[in-house]
Amino acid sequence: MKIDVLTLFPEMFSGVFGSSILKNAKESGVVSYRIINFREYADNKHKKVDDYPYGGGAGMVLRAQPIFDAVDALTNQMQKKPRVILLCPQGERFTQKKAEELAEEEHIILLCGHYEGYDERIREHLATDEISIGDYVLTGGELGAMVIADSVTRLLPGVLGNAESAITDSFSTGLLEHPHYTRPSDFRGMKVPDILLSGHHKNIDAWREQESFKRTWERRPDLLEDRKLTTEEEKRLKNLNKR
Ligand code: SAM
Repeated sequence: MKIDVLTLFPEMFSGVFGSSILKNAKESGVVSYRIINFREYADNKHKKVDDYPYGGGAGMVLRAQPIFDAVDALTNQMQKKPRVILLCPQGERFTQKKAEELAEEEHIILLCGHYEGYDERIREHLATDEISIGDYVLTGGELGAMVIADSVTRLLPGVLGNAESAITDSFSTGLLEHPHYTRPSDFRGMKVPDILLSGHHKNIDAWREQESFKRTWERRPDLLEDRKLTTEEEKRLKNLNKR
């Protein structure tokens, strides 16, 4: 998969893309990241990428020209046009489901805004998607682009080993994941649940499923609202609601 990022602050990406699983994914050839400073595409002498808003008001607006030209340069030889994703607090809220959808793509372009935002024509005529990483306003889209690149990369085949498998992660199953423990079994008097030490895998799986459901019910009941519950989950829900 190819992940291209258009940004005014390329230096922000070296730490995240050069560490841990993203670094390994890149080195193994599963993914390539290109960080492009779209200032290079500005068609004026001073490489100015922003301008005053028509109608007046506070803040500067990113001009359409450098961003359109940067995307054209990345895509003009291509038969299949990539998804062009605008990082934007007004966009669709980012979820694991969206990460799974993007992980199916061969190529995505992440566009990081700054200042007051973008010229509206970028949103209307260039972007295929607008994504927000949450209901708060950041200085720029870079952190959002890193969030998307990270969550998408870890879903690509071969990136996670068994030890870090994404299948049982929170949200992938539609529920929050069960709790984890590691050695020692007794730490300062705080004990690991007996069932996890029993070696009885069927009972351990059942306990994990129960804990995952309970945790979701306690912390994120909204996730259960749209879920098609199994018979077992119906029973679990009844018991939890009785408490
Ligand atoms: N004036 C804009 C508004 O009220 O919608 C906010 C602009 S914000 C200061 C500058 C840039 O940061 C945005 O263009 C976007 O790229 C990025 N950004 C800010 N908050 C974000 C969020 N929650 N999710 C994704 N990107 C965000």
